[in-house]
Amino acid sequence: MADPSPGELRGPCDQEEIQIGQRFAEHIPTEQGNLQPINKQRTFNVVAREILTQFQVWQRACYSRNIEWGPITAKIISALPQFYGREAEVIIRCTKMLHNRRDYLRRRVKTHITVLKSGETPCISKCTQCCDKYHCPYCETWVYKPRESGSVVNHVQNHLKLAVHEEDFTIVKCNLKCREYAHFHCCYCPATVLRRGQLKTHLTKCKQKFNAEEELEGTCSFEESPEHQ
Ligand SMILES: [Zn+2]
Ligand SMILES: [Zn+2]
Ligand SMILES: [Zn+2]
Ligand SMILES: [Zn+2]
Ligand SMILES: [Zn+2]
Repeated sequence: MADPSPGELRGPCDQEEIQIGQRFAEHIPTEQGNLQPINKQRTFNVVAREILTQFQVWQRACYSRNIEWGPITAKIISALPQFYGREAEVIIRCTKMLHNRRDYLRRRVKTHITVLKSGETPCISKCTQCCDKYHCPYCETWVYKPRESGSVVNHVQNHLKLAVHEEDFTIVKCNLKCREYAHFHCCYCPATVLRRGQLKTHLTKCKQKFNAEEELEGTCSFEESPEHQ
């Protein structure tokens, strides 16, 4: 009962992503005025985000492991002198922001075309680029030659029959030029693997890793956490 649903928990993260640009414009000029705690927190978020971006950490939130915090905290503190001597707190706040960011990226990640989300169907349409036939969306033309729609539909159905199912995803074999050989794309990370068996092993580990990270770092409560200043 006490636990909000994942959707409710995560709402603020999305908002954070969408509205941060506006916040910057709205809140920075009045920063010196009557500071509500929430505005202070937003100011911190805006400044930290900008600096994390400068250090290429924000963009790679999904993969950030060994962040060199020294120069980052120094820069944040020079922009927000009220954090002088509170490096550890700055790191904790930034880590939470990165965690939210990772959640956000994970939820909106544009999966590879060969990774279908539940309810998504293959898109087979007439070629407007090189011919007047239909292409398999998962094969380069030198692997599967463009044909009439009926043949392509059958061929794509084969892709689906041989697909790997993982949670809400259907992963079909990829014959596009991402790799030299036919392969599968992971639905959780950018990895590709050559064999079905490898994919299943990878998916098990990859999913465990995500879940472990989530447990370690807690939920997306940063927006709601009390300001202590
Ligand atoms: Zn074509
Ligand atoms: Zn194909
Ligand atoms: Zn591929
Ligand atoms: Zn993976
Ligand atoms: Zn989270």
